[in-house]
Amino acid sequence: MKAIRISAIGERLTQEEIPEPTPAAGEVVVAVRAAGICHSDAHYRSGIGSLARLPMTPGHEVAGIIESVGPGVSRKRIGERVCLHYLITCGECRYCRRNIGQFCPDVSMIGKDRDGGYAEYICVPEQNALSLPDDIPFTHAAVMMCSFVTALHALRKARFTEGESVAIFGVGGLGVAGIGLSTALGASKIIAIDKNSAKVEAARSMGAIGINASETDVVEALMDHTGGLGVDVALEFVGLPVTSKQAVQSLAVQGRAAMVGLANAPTPVDMYKDMIGKEREIIGVSDHLPNEIDELIALVQQGRLDIAPVTSKTVPLDETAVNEVLDELDDYRGKAIRTVIEIE
Ligand SMILES: [Zn+2]
Ligand SMILES: [Zn+2]
Repeated sequence: MKAIRISAIGERLTQEEIPEPTPAAGEVVVAVRAAGICHSDAHYRSGIGSLARLPMTPGHEVAGIIESVGPGVSRKRIGERVCLHYLITCGECRYCRRNIGQFCPDVSMIGKDRDGGYAEYICVPEQNALSLPDDIPFTHAAVMMCSFVTALHALRKARFTEGESVAIFGVGGLGVAGIGLSTALGASKIIAIDKNSAKVEAARSMGAIGINASETDVVEALMDHTGGLGVDVALEFVGLPVTSKQAVQSLAVQGRAAMVGLANAPTPVDMYKDMIGKEREIIGVSDHLPNEIDELIALVQQGRLDIAPVTSKTVPLDETAVNEVLDELDDYRGKAIRTVIEIE
């Protein structure tokens, strides 16, 4: 089968012919129909993110059709439309039993620890192949598997409820998902912050209030937009100390900041002024849960969340096209549209 793989760090991905996977007991082989090209794939290529081995087929945002099943899996699943939960867990440890499999000591991720979806076929445990309704296109399902479901997990961890205000730091794939989900779940006000004017415009076109961080004092602007109260929930998707601090300082009384962006340095927080005096909370967010994928699918099916605006760009399973998209993701000035590999 054809696969586009990372063979050396810092080098372009190359197209290879590798054997089609065969499913072991409890596994299914999925014919890939769509695989999202994620910013973290660009990080794996450049070496900012680390892979378990080389060569590796990246791609953790995958949807397709079950092609074959291993022993112990019902043959009725062959032909089923599915989307893939990208974390493979033991299912038995204390964390798996509590449905927080992202902390499983044996966790592995498709496209990082084992071959992913930049290929014609992928092999995963049966329980990772979640049923995808007929009315959701594969390309939409692919991007739902990463940025959208992680943004939903962030909102759930922040205990967001209808009618609350939300600030979104960073309008990349996660930020765009955060805006769409906050709208779908009934936020009273959504304020998106980025230092890139094209991304601020993208946020405005989705109905958010846009703040350009390179032009204005972010905390002051957020206070102005909320009548001096601050926001109920802040989603931090950038991971810089400056944006992390702004996310905390822009919170209302009892506001919650969900930290998703991977910070490169510690963030100093004034414990009394920034936290205690207003009973604010800082909440760590890591990946997402399989049941949140089901919740996301329901939101799309109910027509409350539209994935179409962020998946308008598709490329074939082609070495040159995929590398070009990764180049665009490396370039911060790129637009907030997600690109998906589509296999007809
Ligand atoms: Zn991703
Ligand atoms: Zn486990």
